[in-house]
Amino acid sequence: MSAKVKIIERKGVSYNERLFLVEVFKGMRVTLGHFLRNFLDTSKLYVRHYPEVQPEISPRWRGRHRLTTHEDGTAKCVACFMCQTNCPSHCIMIEAGERLDGRSEKMPIRFDIDLLECIYCGYCVEACPMDAIRMDTGIYSVTSSERKTMLKTIDELLATPAGFTEEEYRKGGL
Ligand code: SF4
Ligand code: SF4
Repeated sequence: MSAKVKIIERKGVSYNERLFLVEVFKGMRVTLGHFLRNFLDTSKLYVRHYPEVQPEISPRWRGRHRLTTHEDGTAKCVACFMCQTNCPSHCIMIEAGERLDGRSEKMPIRFDIDLLECIYCGYCVEACPMDAIRMDTGIYSVTSSERKTMLKTIDELLATPAGFTEEEYRKGGL
């Protein structure tokens, strides 16, 4: 059985098209139309005037990390290294020490996250068996002019508050 072949006739380009000028002006007409429309009526602009207008952050947003605590303020982290092991960027550095309050055998005496290496994948949160690390701070602007301030230590991670209530986090959380 022979296959049906559809022959497409090549029309080539016209003189005007080869000049490109007409096509350029057509494009400029569209651009100018958008410019004038948005200039005269800004209500339909798809632009957020950041930072004056801040974005609404969902509890699902993977923002800057924090370490969660028990009611008495002690870290929930048991230094199991699951987050560090699962981190694809190798940007979590934990050092374990003995825990003396009876909650668990170990606790972190060092827990650093290098935010310059982090890709905000959320694997550390998923890997944690203790719900001890979360990215629910709602902090989306992580900038600095100094590299060393991008290394978040255990004290800062423990002191960073949640950006949402527990209910909001559970409803839309990671
Ligand atoms: S969000 Fe991803 S890259 Fe960042 S610390 Fe957690 S596991 Fe590592
Ligand atoms: S944050 Fe969670 S996964 Fe990471 S060491 Fe602590 S308990 Fe383990």
